[in-house]
Parts: sequence; C-alpha cells; structure tokens
Amino acid sequence: MEKIKMTTPIVEMDGDEMTRILWKMIKDELILPFVDLKTEYYDLGLVERDKTSDQVTIDSANATKKYGVAVKCATITPNAQRVEEYKLHQMWKSPNGTIRAMLDGTVFRAPIMIDAIKPVVKNWTMPITIARHAYGDVYKNTEFRIPGKGKAELLFTGEDGTEMRETVYEYECPGVLQAQYNKDNSITSFAHSCFKYALSTKQDLWFATKDTISKKYDHTFKDIFQELFDKEYKEEFEKAGITYFYTLIDDAVARVIRSKGGYIWACKNYDGDVMSDMVSTAFGSLAMMTSVLVSPDGNYEYEAAHGTVTRHYYKYLNGEETSTNPIATIFAWSGAFRKRGEKDGLNDLISYADKLEEACIDTLNAGIMTKDLVGLVEPGFKATAVNSKEFILAIKERLAAKLS
Ligand code: NAP
Ligand code: MG
Repeated sequence: MEKIKMTTPIVEMDGDEMTRILWKMIKDELILPFVDLKTEYYDLGLVERDKTSDQVTIDSANATKKYGVAVKCATITPNAQRVEEYKLHQMWKSPNGTIRAMLDGTVFRAPIMIDAIKPVVKNWTMPITIARHAYGDVYKNTEFRIPGKGKAELLFTGEDGTEMRETVYEYECPGVLQAQYNKDNSITSFAHSCFKYALSTKQDLWFATKDTISKKYDHTFKDIFQELFDKEYKEEFEKAGITYFYTLIDDAVARVIRSKGGYIWACKNYDGDVMSDMVSTAFGSLAMMTSVLVSPDGNYEYEAAHGTVTRHYYKYLNGEETSTNPIATIFAWSGAFRKRGEKDGLNDLISYADKLEEACIDTLNAGIMTKDLVGLVEPGFKATAVNSKEFILAIKERLAAKLS
C-alpha cells in the first residue's frame, strides 16, 4: 500500500510519562505504517525542557505559529516534588500555559462519545464542546479581608491623571472585598477563536454571561461578541448553516441540560472552569476528552485533556501491565491530520483522519477497551479489558481494513 502523502509538517510536541509511552506506540502502529509522516519534532519532556531552560517550549509555540497545526502529548507541570524527582534547575512553568499565552489562544474541550457509554444526561446525544476564556476575572483578582468599619472605594487613574472613583461599600462590620479585571483585546481574541472554531467544526456557538446584573463588566463581553459577529462572521455563519446564540448564563444552564448537544458553549473564565468539569463528568471519562487550542488567527494545537497518567507510568516502570486509554491522544493526532489536510487540500489525509477515528470507535463498540472504560459501560454490554498495546493493535487491524 502506498503511504498517504503530506506537504507541510505538523508540529509534534512529545511529552512525559505514560502518555510518552503511548505516543510512541500510536506513531509506530497507527501512523507510520500508513502515512508518510512529516513533523517538526519538539521534545517537551521535562528532561529536555530543563536542559534547554524551557526554550524548547517557546520554539514549539513559534513553530505552531509558523505551520498552523500542532499535536501535543501530555506534559508534567513541575511542582516541588517534581523538582526533586527530576533534579530540575527551576520549577518550570506549565508548557500549556506558555503555549496558550504565546498563541493568545482559547481551549475547546469535547467528549468522544460511544454507544456503550451513555452520558448521565440522557438527552445528550451529541457532544457539547466547552470553550473557556482562560484570562483574568476572579483568577487575577485583588482581594482584601476587611477587618471592620471603613469605606471601600474603586479608583482608576488614567495615564493623563484623570480619575474615576466610586464608593463600593461603607462597612459597618468586618467583611470581604474583591476587584477583578479583563481587557478588550483578550475578550476579542476569545471571540475570534470561538467564531473560527464554530466555523471550522460547523457547530452552533452559544455564549452566556450575567449581563443583566453586571451592566458594564459582563455586558462588555456580550457587546464585543455581538459586534465582532455582525461585522466579521455573520455571513460566513449563514453560509455554513450555523448560528450564534447569546443568552443569560442561568438560562444557558437550563437549556444545556435539556439540549441534545452538538454545539460549542463559550464561557467566561469561572463559568468555563466549573461547567467544563460538570460537562466532562456527565459525559463519562477524562480519558475520552479531547482538547484543542485555537488562536484568534486560526492556528490549532491538538491534545488530550488528561495528564501524563503518572500512577500507570510507575506501574509500567515496574514491569507491570498497564491498561491506559490512548483514545484522546489518538484523536489529538487525527484532529491535527484533519486540520493539516484541510489547510493543504489533502483529501487522503482528511480521509485517513476520519478512518482512524472510526477504527477507534469500532473497536470500542466491539467491546474491546481499556480498564477505565469497562466499568462505565451500559448494563448488558459485553466489554473486555485489554492492555494498551493490545488495544492499539485492535484499532490497527480495523484501520488497515478501512484503508485497504
Ligand atoms: P492525569 O494524568 O490526568 O491522571 C489522573 C487519573 O485519571 C489517573 O491516575 C487515572 O486514574 C485517570 N486517567 C487519566 N487519563 C487516563 C487515561 N488516558 N487512561 C486511563 N486512566 C486515565 O492527572 P494527574 O495524575 O493529576 O497528573 C499527572 C501529571 O500530568 C502531572 O504532573 C500534571 O502536571 C500533568 N498534567 C498535564 C496536563 C497536560 O499536559 N495537558 C494536564 C493535566 C495534568 P487511575 O489512576 O484511577 O487509573
Ligand atoms: Mg476546574
């Protein structure tokens, strides 16, 4: 069989621990036999990040800006214990944080659904994709514990010295006080990423805030989205047959629960934090969540939502058999191949991505799965737990049949 051709490289970001082991298996068994793979390789494993003083992470983000499509393996975000374990020179920052900041991107998370595992919400028949604005608000707040009587004021001093000042509250007893901020350019980038991703996946976009109560802060989010939509995206949305829908956050929550799914739900930072945990739990498993970082100028970095699965890695190092789920990492690769294919006009590459995903779903629907999923299947569905290698080989068999 002739291998599928690529023209532009995908930026490949290798990672750590169990997911690094899976990464190699996926490449060896599911990609290299079928695709004439072109990648620009960056090793974001913790050892290499430490060796390069994290320059490798910066280089990989710049490469993503250059080529437009990246695929990333899960990586360790070091804490004090990791500094000791890896004898690090420094407690390096989260690679995801660094890449997200450099691309000014938004993260979209979506579950992979299979027949055998039904979401807790029974009417969700299609995935719900959550987009979280990962900048500012309560995550960058300034807050005081107020000791007792006194006056709290909000003060802004402009560059030219003009002041805006307002009394927040005159305390008659102890209490709490908090200030939050956000920036128009960050909200605008968030909106661009959301509109672009909706067009890219042909799904409706929902956005919600509490603009009736927060008449300046939240209302600004609403206005920026609406103005940008009217000015730059309305026609494209109409052509694609999708809609942009704004509502109040409490109304959105009620509609989400009653919906069938199949749309993107854009959330402010806090809402996205809370709602993404709720939605992903209700859909089933962290090991089945995909994640893609989309920049406002249309660059894409695909990955799994889970971490490096440390507990399994230590078993693996002990020579024990592991049954770690590679599905979200495989879908990161298929997502990157599909996007590369779309950008370069390579239909065979797009079709390979589709078949790779179908082969995964077929394998799961045949009851062959990793341990984490076996406990989640519907009563009556016959499932067998296999190890990671056996699972990947079962996918390979189905993929090869589809491609021949
Ligand atoms: P984790 O790697 O996501 O794993 C947490 C637990 O979830 C695992 O112990 C396992 O449960 C289950 N799990 C997650 N993915 C699985 C999979 N593919 N197959 C089977 N089970 C899976 O989170 P963590 O243990 O909190 O973090 C480990 C490391 O990952 C940390 O160093 C953290 O910094 C890093 N991390 C990286 C990213 C990223 O790069 N995007 C994201 C999150 C965390 P059982 O042990 O019960 O089987
Ligand atoms: Mg959370």
